[in-house]
Amino acid sequence: MLSVENIHSYYGASHILHGVSLEVNQGEVVALLGRNGAGKTTTLRSIIGLTPPKQGQIHLKGKETTGHKPHAMARVGVSYMPETRGIFPSLTVYENLTLAAGRRPGPWTIARIFEIFPRLEARRTNGGAQLSGGEQQMLAIARTLLLNPDLLLLDEPTEGLAPIIVQDIEERLEAIKREGMTILLVEQNFRFATNLADRVYVLGKGEIQWSGTAGEILADDHTQKTWLGV
Ligand code: ATP
Repeated sequence: MLSVENIHSYYGASHILHGVSLEVNQGEVVALLGRNGAGKTTTLRSIIGLTPPKQGQIHLKGKETTGHKPHAMARVGVSYMPETRGIFPSLTVYENLTLAAGRRPGPWTIARIFEIFPRLEARRTNGGAQLSGGEQQMLAIARTLLLNPDLLLLDEPTEGLAPIIVQDIEERLEAIKREGMTILLVEQNFRFATNLADRVYVLGKGEIQWSGTAGEILADDHTQKTWLGV
């Protein structure tokens, strides 16, 4: 589905990614882990075209997309949920969903979203700003799904949420995974990420330091301590 080959990305003169390569196969959930500042968000921004790499290549479904703008990436089936969530606080839940729906044909409709996120249906007439952190996160995930992507890029869906809400988000994402969605997930929450992911890449100092299955990293104390501080 996605192939990232040896990308180098910069903010101004700061060289942040030093040759990152990774693959995401159809139907997989892949987690990108690493400490603060490792370059995880920059990797997602490079893929979606917000911080285009200066070197290296990105292919989606076999076609090169290096440097394509975010709207072009959305058209070819990649949607991105930033850490900031990107919901409209002054609009209702239903209005937030309506704005995202119907742009690209596919299985995700507002009715289907309400089956997976009954909480959003219960809150449909509430304003975005009235929602709890967990509900806002669910709304942000729902909005990216309604773009009917082939690949979903999620930046820290658990950030700032209480453990019980993290558990709830994990169950929703499990359901979305069972529908066959391909996901590249950036996370700080090691347990959440390894519960959901099939495979894991560990980023450190702008380079991939380790890759393997979720089971392998759970058994690898050295990698956890060195690169994740778990
Ligand atoms: P976090 O969990 O803290 O977001 P991360 O692994 O996602 O960590 P990035 O956000 O990709 O890390 O940041 C990588 C490096 O780039 C950090 O050193 C950060 O300070 C720097 N950086 C991020 N955004 C900018 C920017 N807009 N301008 C300059 N430097 C930036």
